[in-house]
Amino acid sequence: ADSTNDGGILVIGLGRFGGYLAESLTHLGHEVLAVDRNPELVQRWSDQLDRVVQADATEEDALRQLGASDFQSAVVAIGASVEASVLAVLALVELGGPQVWARATSTKHAKILASVGAHHVIFPEAETGERVAHLIVSKMLDFI
Ligand code: ATP
Repeated sequence: ADSTNDGGILVIGLGRFGGYLAESLTHLGHEVLAVDRNPELVQRWSDQLDRVVQADATEEDALRQLGASDFQSAVVAIGASVEASVLAVLALVELGGPQVWARATSTKHAKILASVGAHHVIFPEAETGERVAHLIVSKMLDFI
């Protein structure tokens, strides 16, 4: 196990959501290890993020080699593939250690993530939509 991971945050999936998340956590002063299976994305993010590696997060061995169990938190930011998202969450839960935050894209996806042991399930699109709706309505009230 690599002690430099202690207290750090593992971000899996560098799509738009995972990328902005990893960047924000870095700006907030946290140690982030970002993982994506796509080497082009790993290359693209390597300037903005301190540690970016290419790996398949559905492989428990790959996560073990990254010292995943030493992280304080892990975020599975994969959205499009429910299977990859569920398998990555399952692998992280089985390894034990980090608080697992998992991104859901539907209610059923959320149920599966919770049932395989995700500690926190988040819905970025739904949460942003709701927040922006409140913002618009509060701005409308300003003009009454
Ligand atoms: P966003 O809406 O955030 O742009 P998306 O839903 O369009 O995301 P996805 O295809 O779900 O994008 O995946 C986000 C990232 O997760 C991609 O860059 C993809 O390469 C990565 N990813 C998918 N499966 C795995 C995996 N098994 N291991 C590591 N990374 C993965």
